[in-house]
Amino acid sequence: MSTTGDKHVHLLENKAQACCRFCGSELRHTFVDLGMSPLCESYLSLEQLNQMEPFYPLHVYVCDRCFLVQLQEYVKPEDIFTEYAYFSSYANTLLEHSRNYTQQMIERLHLDKDSFVVEVASNDGYLLQYFVERNIPSLGIEPAVNIARAAIDKGIPTLIEFFGTECAHRMAVEGKSADLIIGNNVLSQVPNLNDFVEGLKILLKPDGVITIEFPHLMNLITNNLFDTIYHEHFSYFSFSTAEKIFLAHGLVLFDLEELTTHGGSLRIYARHAQDDSKLVSGRVIEFKQREEQAGINDLAYYATFYEQVKETKRKLLDFLIKTKRQGKSIAGYGAPGKGNTLLNYCGIRTDFLDYTVDRNPYKHGKFLPGTHIPIYSPDMISETKPDYVLILPWNLKDEIMEQIGFIREWGGQFIVPIPEVKLYP
Ligand SMILES: [Zn+2]
Repeated sequence: MSTTGDKHVHLLENKAQACCRFCGSELRHTFVDLGMSPLCESYLSLEQLNQMEPFYPLHVYVCDRCFLVQLQEYVKPEDIFTEYAYFSSYANTLLEHSRNYTQQMIERLHLDKDSFVVEVASNDGYLLQYFVERNIPSLGIEPAVNIARAAIDKGIPTLIEFFGTECAHRMAVEGKSADLIIGNNVLSQVPNLNDFVEGLKILLKPDGVITIEFPHLMNLITNNLFDTIYHEHFSYFSFSTAEKIFLAHGLVLFDLEELTTHGGSLRIYARHAQDDSKLVSGRVIEFKQREEQAGINDLAYYATFYEQVKETKRKLLDFLIKTKRQGKSIAGYGAPGKGNTLLNYCGIRTDFLDYTVDRNPYKHGKFLPGTHIPIYSPDMISETKPDYVLILPWNLKDEIMEQIGFIREWGGQFIVPIPEVKLYP
């Protein structure tokens, strides 16, 4: 598609991106380098298997000034998020989490028919549906056209676009400022972080509240969650770094909760710096101390992760090689983005994994990017009776082991690869 001219511009942009996307410092320290990988959500059709497939670096840096862990913008969000295969409504655990959150926020912020709730990156409306159900005016903003349409069809008003200052200004002018702005698992996905956070500031009513959920960097490091690194995730945050970023845009983080989603996430609560009706909670102070003591503001804390990741790869491959030598069959469960990072980094293809299955019919008949492992409906498991099922979305392992617990009838066992390869008979 691109001409020579475009390529030239692309190179220049890449060079400019070697600076921290928040503070602008030069990026000089590698956090982890997972090599070359395809975009983790670009599932392939049968026809595409014989074509060239783009691979991009998964080289993650840590900024030595603000400690933002980050990936360069190798791929434009427009190329990733405008047609996306991830439909949140297929994960039961997430739906339950969303219903509880809605109840909690309605009570805490006294939301009613005169309030206005905005969710940025609202996916297929899996969360906003619970606000709509309670007659609270809501609006989703979602750039993936196919997913946004699914939300609109369900009766969830949704703008199809990327969020930033431009969108926020327009909404503010139209009188659509928000009492509550929700951003779940989106902060890591914005290349222009400063524009995004400034947009939140613009859209928020003077006494409004922003809640943002993101996977906690300390959990990523402690629990070895390197498979949650993919091109779609440009940034990885500690609370301390998130606080610096929000404060730079006149927003104060006044509360936080620790969540179990995605292997350990934080929900942060932000308000305008001028809004002193909400005191900064003791939890914030305590949590910052915890991070400080762990070494989150010290470069040495980030230096050992890479070696830990390499050792995990060696152990997983050891196990798979041993199992295949015994003549056993292994199938995958799930086709999540994180699975693709893991499989590509470790070089696991159909030589180890016969196939994988997924509940999302959108993926059936397709193949995993890079590894070309075929994706079937979960019925395939009971038809082929594999000796082992490798659970790729390990964050949903309890739900999955319950759903397909019947594999035990033929002596089947579960393998969970992260944080370390572990068997569940
Ligand atoms: Zn920085």
